[in-house]
Amino acid sequence: MKKTLSSDDLLLVPQYSDIESRKEVDISVNLGNSRLLSSPIVAAPMDTICGKEMSCTLAEMGMLPIIHRYNSIEEQCEIAVAAMERNCNNSPIGAAVGATGDYLDRAAQLASCGVEVICIDVAHGHHIMVERAIKTIKDKLDKVHIMAGNIATLEAFNDLSDWGADSIRCGIGGGSICSTRLQTGHGVPTIQSVLDVSQTDRKSLIIADGGMKNSGDIVKAIAAGADMVMVGSLISGTAEAPGDLIVDKHGRKRKMYRGMASKGAQRDWRGKVSSIEGVTTTVPYKGEVKNVIGELHVGIRSGLSYSGSRSIQELQNRAAFVQQTVSGQAESSTHIVGRWS
Ligand code: IMP
Repeated sequence: MKKTLSSDDLLLVPQYSDIESRKEVDISVNLGNSRLLSSPIVAAPMDTICGKEMSCTLAEMGMLPIIHRYNSIEEQCEIAVAAMERNCNNSPIGAAVGATGDYLDRAAQLASCGVEVICIDVAHGHHIMVERAIKTIKDKLDKVHIMAGNIATLEAFNDLSDWGADSIRCGIGGGSICSTRLQTGHGVPTIQSVLDVSQTDRKSLIIADGGMKNSGDIVKAIAAGADMVMVGSLISGTAEAPGDLIVDKHGRKRKMYRGMASKGAQRDWRGKVSSIEGVTTTVPYKGEVKNVIGELHVGIRSGLSYSGSRSIQELQNRAAFVQQTVSGQAESSTHIVGRWS
């Protein structure tokens, strides 16, 4: 039986560096056809993450929002147009569609509004319906970048790539709000999936998706082979995340964050509930997303510099992982709290 590793099991070994300032580190990503993103961080297409304000702000920062699909086609197009108008960088905008129902019409209307990245957003992407959806969209809309997923294995990555996906979301069961592994017994730790799919000889971009807890996890996912990292919880609770502020009984501000397969999300968007594979929670209010992203970028640049790398590609070539023990994991987190209490 194959042993799998999670992000917390791994560390990157520091390497000689001649980088004198973090400003020398380039974290931009080429999406293909010279379409550049300022950051490897991509916003997840969830109804408590990527609505209008989040999409506009990320677009303004030259980042890639994937506008969620739990709305009418008109509403989704309106968000896309607003994000494009706020985009001083002219970077690409992304939006999600499903693999059944109105997906082709939705993709076509989004593309005609100027959306360049269509994300076929399905929990189990190594599936005949995703194959059909990729091929159909590719056939009708040959200019769009197709993002698809989610998958967990090299075999799935190669299949989705061969079907026509330009970028592929890797990670099943690792999301902070995900209960897929509890409900179904299936999944692979996200960084293990990335390590496995990075062996591919296909050209599709690798997106690590699910379970990023801090910038260190993002650096490890990139070092393992990810070109981009999709995040939900890290930017949840920000001013731009959809949803009202909730003030708890201690007067602390919070916002809702929920999985799209949670009971509440299914009820709201499908009017019925089947396999519940996500949870709903509240998270502390974090203020403006640009400050949250700014801090993550500082950590990512610092991470690249510890490996002596000036770019994502250089990090992937130089990265040296070690596996840590349980006592190593304890040492790796701040461990003074509680020592003298
Ligand atoms: P996070 O960054 O750890 O919070 O994970 C976000 C990711 O979780 C998303 O990009 C999706 O891939 C995944 N996800 C979203 N909703 C659900 C759900 O209800 N169940 C399982 N996975 C989910």
